[in-house]
Formats: sequence, C-alpha cells, structure tokens
Amino acid sequence: MARYVKPTLDTKFHIDFDWWQQRRQNLRVYLYSHLCPECRVKYADSPPEEIDWVSPDTGEVRRVDILWHVIRTHCSQQPDYITDHTPLTAAVFRIFLANDNTPLTPAGLHQILGRKSPSLILRTIGGHQIYKGIRPVSTPVRRRAKKAA
Ligand SMILES: [Zn+2]
Repeated sequence: MARYVKPTLDTKFHIDFDWWQQRRQNLRVYLYSHLCPECRVKYADSPPEEIDWVSPDTGEVRRVDILWHVIRTHCSQQPDYITDHTPLTAAVFRIFLANDNTPLTPAGLHQILGRKSPSLILRTIGGHQIYKGIRPVSTPVRRRAKKAA
C-alpha cells in the first residue's frame, strides 16, 4: 500500500485514472453528468467508446472515454460550465476535465475558480477520502539502472 503523504498547498492534484480503472462504467456515468444539455441529448444513447489520450504532463498515453473529449472540446467552452452554484468538488473535477488533467495546486485551482480560499480547497480535496479520483499526483521513484558503457 502506498504511504499516505499529507498534501500541502504546494501539492499538485489531478484526476487519477488508476482510481477510476475499476470504476470505468461509473466514470462514464459521472462524465455524462458533466455534459452540457446539448451533448446530453446527443450522447444519450451512444455506445461507450474510448479514444487515445496523451498526458500533456508526462506524455503517457491512456485510453479515455470519448465523453471526456466531448467535455473538453465542447461543454467546457459553454459559459455556464462552472458557475458560482457549482459545488466545489464538482467544479474542481470540471477544471481538470477542461484543462486536459494538467496537475494544479490548490492555489492554482483557486485562481481559476475565483472563489474559495486555497486552504479550503486543500481541506476539501486533500483528505483521506478521495473524491471522484481527485488526488495528489504521485511521483514514482524512477530506478532506471544505468547500463555500464
Ligand atoms: Zn457539450
């Protein structure tokens, strides 16, 4: 089990795909709930489809649900994507959907949201309970054996 490291204001968060891996069907349902009204109609009966997604952060390639792509390229461009009435955790999730899951600190999230203090955001998403896969970016220890020349 991974050691729990208490996140700080400098900790970068993102949506952890591994967390969702065993919950793929639920992810689709959850993503669907973030679609704009127009896309909800459009994708109501569409079969699940996955596309390649390249992490802008690490270059890693993943299969992601096409709804993620739809939200990023269409729904997140709508003016009411995130409003003052969007619950904080949902708003944070929507920020990561829209920014291609680029890791952000609580301060960075605060800047985009324009409301709630960084420390409140940290308390909300930085606890032991993981909300919708939003968790600190883990930095794996890379042990690449150097080949003798
Ligand atoms: Zn849309």
